[in-house]
Amino acid sequence: MAKNVISEVFAVDVFNDAVMAERLPKKVYETLKKTIEEGAELDLEIANVVAHAMKEWALERGATHYTHWFQPMTGITAEKHDSFISPASNSGQAILEFSGKELIKGEPDASSFPSGGLRATFEARGYTAWDCTSPAFLREDAAGVTLCIPTAFCSYTGEALDKKTPLLRSMEAISTQAVRVLKLFGHEEVTRVDCSVGPEQEYFIVDREKYLQREDLIFTGRTLFGAMPPKGQELDDHYFGSIKERIAGYMKELNVELWKLGILSKTQHNEVAPAQHEMAPIYGTANIATDHNQLVMETMKKVAKRRGLECLLHEKPFAGVNGSGKHNNWSIVTNTGKNLLEPGKTPHENIQFLLFLSAIIKAVDENAALLRLSASNPGNDHRLGANEAPPAIISIFLGEQLEDVISQLIETGEAKSSKQGGKLNIGVHTLPELKKDATDRNRTSPFAFTGNKFEFRMVASSMSIAGANTVLNTIVADVLSDMADTLEKADNFELAVHDLIKKTLTDHQRVIFNGNGYADEWIAEAERRGLPNVKTMVDAIPALTSEKSVKMFEKFKVFSKVELASRAEINYEAYSKAINIEAKTMIEMANKKYIPAVIKAVATLADSINSVKAAVPSADVSVQTALLTESSKLLAEAKAAVLHLQEVDAQAATKEEGKEQATYFKDVVFPAMSDLRTPIDALELIIDKEAWPVPTYGDLLFEV
Ligand code: ADP
Ligand code: MG
Repeated sequence: MAKNVISEVFAVDVFNDAVMAERLPKKVYETLKKTIEEGAELDLEIANVVAHAMKEWALERGATHYTHWFQPMTGITAEKHDSFISPASNSGQAILEFSGKELIKGEPDASSFPSGGLRATFEARGYTAWDCTSPAFLREDAAGVTLCIPTAFCSYTGEALDKKTPLLRSMEAISTQAVRVLKLFGHEEVTRVDCSVGPEQEYFIVDREKYLQREDLIFTGRTLFGAMPPKGQELDDHYFGSIKERIAGYMKELNVELWKLGILSKTQHNEVAPAQHEMAPIYGTANIATDHNQLVMETMKKVAKRRGLECLLHEKPFAGVNGSGKHNNWSIVTNTGKNLLEPGKTPHENIQFLLFLSAIIKAVDENAALLRLSASNPGNDHRLGANEAPPAIISIFLGEQLEDVISQLIETGEAKSSKQGGKLNIGVHTLPELKKDATDRNRTSPFAFTGNKFEFRMVASSMSIAGANTVLNTIVADVLSDMADTLEKADNFELAVHDLIKKTLTDHQRVIFNGNGYADEWIAEAERRGLPNVKTMVDAIPALTSEKSVKMFEKFKVFSKVELASRAEINYEAYSKAINIEAKTMIEMANKKYIPAVIKAVATLADSINSVKAAVPSADVSVQTALLTESSKLLAEAKAAVLHLQEVDAQAATKEEGKEQATYFKDVVFPAMSDLRTPIDALELIIDKEAWPVPTYGDLLFEV
């Protein structure tokens, strides 16, 4: 029988638990497992043995290099390759070496990574430290085969310069606090709690030839110009539609590449917008899920290029059609395998579940701005708070069943029943009888309970999920810690839990909203409820360094005050740079492509009027004349708008870097960009297609 491709390729490129069990001496394996599972210290002797086994395994697969693979604050991954080569003493030969020291610690000169003031360029030292909780893997590309070792990245003084370190710290924080609470419920057997994360990744695929003709896509990842084609997404015919051959081939190759890396690529489908698609893996531990998501994004881009396609991960590559996000599915699970967000059939009786649920509700309500920021990048500003999912207001969807339990609790102090889903009546006898979930879904909520997990839907499609999960873990750890403090002191645990749940839910019910999150009424209602509506990334950044945030992050040692300040700086800088690049790209495209093309088209038109008039003096040239007048008018507007954009963009350099400059880009440069786009898009609609200098939305979205 032919072997199935999944079983053939799955995890072949991963130095995972099975490989370690097979290749490491039993004692070494067990010690390493202890480190992975319980966080026990790892000594150099063990590292030496692991390094040797890892090297042998990698060499057998053709590896020539290894790299410490890390996640600096750029949001993408970084690597510096070293070959295994080492001189054999005096023989003129080379041997292949890889020591424990090289496995556990690297020292890339990292002065060119963003540090937000954490280090000056003359302080070049940065260290990478092996994260043994995420398995090493092989990557094959034009450079050959490289052994990639997931690592954390910190400065000479120990500050985290990356996204992984705070995430790992936050996982420890929530674990410690959840274990405290579980002890009170008598769960002595639980020693650790893990966060599970399943990120659904949305993306666009366009033809690479066409992509290469558009500087905006190349430099900024999104189109900065472009009129809507006659057809957009209004027919809803793309969502879950049958997949085009070229895309199907892409998905197949993508899956194989991901499976090889041990990534559980599971679901694939077309998304709402034309040329938009989604891939969802099966969830895993937050840390590994984060590493995997970085690999997913990288692989999506790589495979696309190979096939003459280009993968766009930008949050809003095309104005006027839906943008992309990342749904961060999140739950907390004990080391004994119990999902703490599993309500069971009768949630009203599940006091432990209700306590964790109320902790999350409180955490989200109290830290809405911080959550908003954790999902923010310049691209996501086009989705959050614009006319698209999800809104910028953080609210929680719980569904009918839980909302009912909660209102019973709040109103009478006791919940006596849980609504059940019952049977689904389809009205056709030949169809199987289906059981209905107790709750319907809500696609418009930014933070939705979906059965046994929360789905944080705000996260930006191109962004690392580390930040969102670091915030989620920490804010929930913070509330659990307070709850444990209260409950540990209580004389009567039962009574105290009951009161605590009731009080927490009563105090924070304002954040629960089951209605339509896109509706204008919700904006007014949310305002009445006092929920923050932070419209832009720049406005969200201060949440990171508020007194409250600093106190919380320092309490759980997730971020120090200095680390938070550096991240705020990096966010401001990232925003300013992104808008600056967009502005400069628009100026270049307008000056070098659109305006010259329109000048030519206008001249052709004028020539044709003259030649018609020369041939037939009485001919009616009113159409040509009207077109000439309108094009010339728009051309003048475009030129004026370019000059204005050039002027305001140049002014940005005079603003103080950081908040002031970012605010300037948001309030002055960004609107000037729209002013330039308007006349150019209007010209696109009236100028001869042949004369138009770049592929249009129609070409990009429908001709893949
Ligand atoms: P839907 O969003 O349509 O419910 P799924 O149930 O398949 O789709 O879940 C979407 C994502 O959520 C997948 O990546 C899935 O693995 C992940 N997921 C499912 N259960 C959990 C859980 N308990 N914790 C975290 N993620 C989960
Ligand atoms: Mg989903």
